[in-house]
Amino acid sequence: MYLRYAHMFLMEKKVVLITGCSSGIGLGLAVLLASDTCQRFKVYATMRDLSKKERLLECVRNCHVDTFEILQMDVTDQHSVLATIEKIKEQRVDVLVCNAGVGLMGPLECHTYETMKNIFDVNLFGTISTIQAFLPGMKQRKTGRIIISSSVGGLQGIPFNDVYCASKFAVEGLCESLAIVLQHFNIHVSLIECGPVSTNFMNNLHTWDPSDGCLQCVDSDTRSLYAQYLQHCKTIFQDVAQDTDEILQMYLEAIEAPLPSLRYFTTQFFMPLTKLKLSCAGGSEYVQAMHKFVFSGTKTEEHQ
Ligand code: NAD
Repeated sequence: MYLRYAHMFLMEKKVVLITGCSSGIGLGLAVLLASDTCQRFKVYATMRDLSKKERLLECVRNCHVDTFEILQMDVTDQHSVLATIEKIKEQRVDVLVCNAGVGLMGPLECHTYETMKNIFDVNLFGTISTIQAFLPGMKQRKTGRIIISSSVGGLQGIPFNDVYCASKFAVEGLCESLAIVLQHFNIHVSLIECGPVSTNFMNNLHTWDPSDGCLQCVDSDTRSLYAQYLQHCKTIFQDVAQDTDEILQMYLEAIEAPLPSLRYFTTQFFMPLTKLKLSCAGGSEYVQAMHKFVFSGTKTEEHQ
């Protein structure tokens, strides 16, 4: 009996730092790891705004205090990212989860420069700054895992998500490139390719509502296509959105697998389109198939 539990106290905890933990996937992952029955993890759950910590605190109230700590960290503020390193008691992070992200939906002509810049500041430069901050320590120790909340929208274009997809495509390029060099340092990079997940992401994203008159800057054809897209999006979320718990298993796999993959797909639903995109280098086949899928409700052959 004692032997069974002895390893809980002898084994060094894996130190995990997660960004964007006030809601959704970040919050769920922080709770999952902090409540591990064998207490294998010490979780640093970071969030931009500490006034939003109550929900997370409520979820971890039964967890052992040694497994959990909340820290303030805004991924767009380099001082805040660097200050976080100083607060890590173990002075190391074994697993870095870059999860903070924001969405942006609507016709490209409607977005202001500031709004688009904010998407890149959080999704791309926030991820870069966070990795830059923790990478030297991992390289020095010749071990580490970097896990990214990416998206199906990081692999294939989605109508009216142009800027969001651009930011996630950039994250994909960043991580795929890094992964090649980081092999030398025994550091594994994993991208979690989420499809729609039932979080507050859709409520939190910057969007344009065709009914509120904000879209007067665009032509009527675009307005009508966008209205169709929003309807499609609603249906997709209703039909295939996954629960956070379901997709968290992929994060766990990326943390625990002896040789983690570069990409983990949380859903097979978009796979036919992803494969089509990757197999037809010219790209027109994907553009046509996606157009049909969104605007005529026609699925690809494999979908049917
Ligand atoms: P969410 O909106 O609940 O979570 C995003 C988190 O990022 C929030 O806690 C928010 O406060 C935080 N954040 C935003 N700006 C920040 C900043 N400057 N510094 C620190 N934190 C910041 O949505 P979610 O679904 O949990 O999203 C998590 C990740 O998953 C995102 O990167 C998102 O792009 C990705 N993703 C989500 C979906 C989905 O359908 N929910 C699909 C694909 C990918």
